[in-house]
Amino acid sequence: MTEPVLRLILGDQLSLNLATLRDADPDRDLILMCELHTEATYVAHHRKKLVLVFSAMRHFARALKSKGFRVRYRKLDDTDSVTCFVEEMEQILEASGCRRCVITQPGEFRLLQQFTQWQQECAYQVELREDDRFLSTPAAFEQWAKGRKQLRMEYFYRLLRREHNVLMQNGKPIGEQWNFDSSNRKALPADRIPPSPTRFEPDDITRDVIQMVSQRYDHFGDLDDFHYAVTREQALQVLSEFIRDRLPNFGDYQDAMRQGDPWLYHSHLSFYLNLGLLDPAETLAAAEKAFHDGQAPLNAVEGFIRQILGWREYVRGLYWLQMPDYAESNFLDAQRPLPALYWGAETALNCLSQCVDDTRRHAYAHHIQRLMVLGNFALLTGIEPKAVNEWYLLVYADAYEWVEMPNVQGMVLFADGGLMASKPYIASGAYIHRMSDYCTRCRFDVKQKTGPRACPFNYLYWDFLDRHRDKLASNPRLGLAYRNLDRMSAEALEATRESARIFLQELE
Ligand SMILES: Cc1cc2nc3c(=O)[nH]c(=O)nc-3n(C[C@H](O)[C@H](O)[C@H](O)COP(=O)(O)OP(=O)(O)OC[C@H]3O[C@@H](n4cnc5c(N)ncnc54)[C@H](O)[C@@H]3O)c2cc1C
Ligand code: SF4
Repeated sequence: MTEPVLRLILGDQLSLNLATLRDADPDRDLILMCELHTEATYVAHHRKKLVLVFSAMRHFARALKSKGFRVRYRKLDDTDSVTCFVEEMEQILEASGCRRCVITQPGEFRLLQQFTQWQQECAYQVELREDDRFLSTPAAFEQWAKGRKQLRMEYFYRLLRREHNVLMQNGKPIGEQWNFDSSNRKALPADRIPPSPTRFEPDDITRDVIQMVSQRYDHFGDLDDFHYAVTREQALQVLSEFIRDRLPNFGDYQDAMRQGDPWLYHSHLSFYLNLGLLDPAETLAAAEKAFHDGQAPLNAVEGFIRQILGWREYVRGLYWLQMPDYAESNFLDAQRPLPALYWGAETALNCLSQCVDDTRRHAYAHHIQRLMVLGNFALLTGIEPKAVNEWYLLVYADAYEWVEMPNVQGMVLFADGGLMASKPYIASGAYIHRMSDYCTRCRFDVKQKTGPRACPFNYLYWDFLDRHRDKLASNPRLGLAYRNLDRMSAEALEATRESARIFLQELE
């Protein structure tokens, strides 16, 4: 029998097909999983996110044990004095006589650096394996990106559609079109009631974790009514209910927002994909099958597939290509501290108040809430990128740096100067009004452009374009916006600037 191997499994590596486990011998090897206080607090994660991750980890350890593996599971209470994974692994390697250790590469640059440094310096044989639970690799992305002046998701997505033969027929996209985005921008009719999200009652393990988190952490975020999946079987149930009940309308209402309901026709799968409970390829296959079986239309299925095969893979490639410099980028030189309203302080802007409230209650808000309300406001008001990144990383239960950071730096803040997005995602109140019912219950008037009752998004939008003329006016995708700004009368421009000045002063 060969020497025993210590195999570390991180909190977002809960997949039985993980590279770490591939050649594991249950009779010989030791699996290590640990809950670390330092990881729970390096940013103050939402309490529902902590429950989700720790409970899913405990359930995964149980599943491994039932398959005969020897698992050393270290609970938060056992690891109070442990500062990092390396310290815990060294202790176990020392005590167990193992000389070899296997780790699948983590999803954060910070941790990868820790492990790489340890690998170089320690006396053990540390093997870092590629995380191959994706449909592309950082190396393939780098190869694709090489020599391109601009990186655009759409072209990477088309490449992956071809490579993986997804929604293709005779080498062409099914429906003779790669992208059905233009059909996917409908507002939600007031009388439409989307199906409720899949719910699971917490079992003993989850209840213990809820109690532990409530006793130890007073971080932002409600703990009550935890109903998320914490096992692979449950995550598969969420997937199958999504395919059956919500996918058919996913495309149509992908961008719609409704007060008090962040779930709508979205899949709610990011929690489970990012933990490793679901495999992206199986979600694509399930959606494609629904199309071929006539259960969901092409605009919905292509829209969903583009999110996972396109955006998810693209942001990961970009993250590994650009780190560590990406974290420092601040193209628009935004310096404002994060306003208290992001932590739930009262605000008269109803759209923001509702999106923060959904986030506080569920550790979830859907894409357009994150992008076009919370993100749009951060961009228009010039909030400092590091503060915005930290907020998004801690408040959402699906947030890990590899996926959070490109969405914030690139898509929301344009901090990378257009590497990820061809133009800043800015919008006035008219967009929010068209896509939601927030404005009907707001103190501000979405139709007014300036003055104390005007919707702040209206004057902030023009003031943003005005302030950043030197950096943005040459962007061809903003040509129309700048032509409209140039047509504004001197009085109207002055009133816009003045309204923005007063609002931003009060924000501080
Ligand atoms: C500022 C900002 C921050 C974000 N932070 C995260 C994050 O930390 N973690 C995260 O998983 N997603 C993040 N997203 C992307 C997206 O908002 C979430 O994936 C989505 O809201 C999760 O809900 P869902 O599973 O119901 O998604 P659906 O709308 O049903 O989409 C299906 C799946 O596609 C994938 N997806 C969709 N859009 C993106 C995207 N832009 N980037 C990567 N994957 C995508 C997700 O895996 C998602 O589960 C962020 C978006 C923005 C604008
Ligand atoms: S009026 Fe403006 S601030 Fe109020 S909800 Fe609408 S977009 Fe938001």
